[in-house]
Amino acid sequence: MKTVRVQPQVDMELCRGCKNCQMVCPVYAIEVARVDGKPQVNINFDVCVGCWNCEQRCPDHAISMVPCEPFDLATDVSRFDYDEIRALCRKAHFHPKQIVCYCTATRAEELAAAILDGASDPAQLVRATGAGSGCGIECNQPILRFLEAAGKTFERPKQSYQWYGRTATVWDVSDKVKKEHPGFRFDNDRELLDSVVDAPVHDLKS
Ligand code: SF4
Ligand code: SF4
Repeated sequence: MKTVRVQPQVDMELCRGCKNCQMVCPVYAIEVARVDGKPQVNINFDVCVGCWNCEQRCPDHAISMVPCEPFDLATDVSRFDYDEIRALCRKAHFHPKQIVCYCTATRAEELAAAILDGASDPAQLVRATGAGSGCGIECNQPILRFLEAAGKTFERPKQSYQWYGRTATVWDVSDKVKKEHPGFRFDNDRELLDSVVDAPVHDLKS
């Protein structure tokens, strides 16, 4: 869960229309166009999650973050059947209480709940949980793993660096690779991680 308190503002006197901001936005909220040879930056504030990526990556310091009416990005896990949440977490190889986004402290169970609530691509998951609205590093793979586990396929816009693909995990290593590299002990790692995924769920409030 995250509370958004700021959104970007662009100084068009400084903008050169490089499209960096568009490429790094995790929810595709920015579109950079040229009108009569001049750059135009359009921001969809209904979609923007105030992640600062555009502000940080603008080479001309044309973007600043300004206060907005605060709003929350969150999905209430208690609205969903916990067995279904647990099953989806297991399929994605996460314990439900595992933190999947350190910037927002979002847990795996909230990503699962958001998918059960209808989120079907990364941008929708970011909007529904806040995960991915911070640094966008650690949460990137959990978000993609959850969507894959739920059987969701999606296309990202061409003009985007975001959500480029899931990396392999220990659950993907083939028998051939295991045989060729016995010293890596993939099966031992997998056994240990499976035991974490299957550990009992404790109510953190009690
Ligand atoms: S990154 Fe900065 S200079 Fe480039 S298009 Fe966006 S606002 Fe303009
Ligand atoms: S979501 Fe992030 S990158 Fe996209 S417009 Fe908002 S602050 Fe900029």
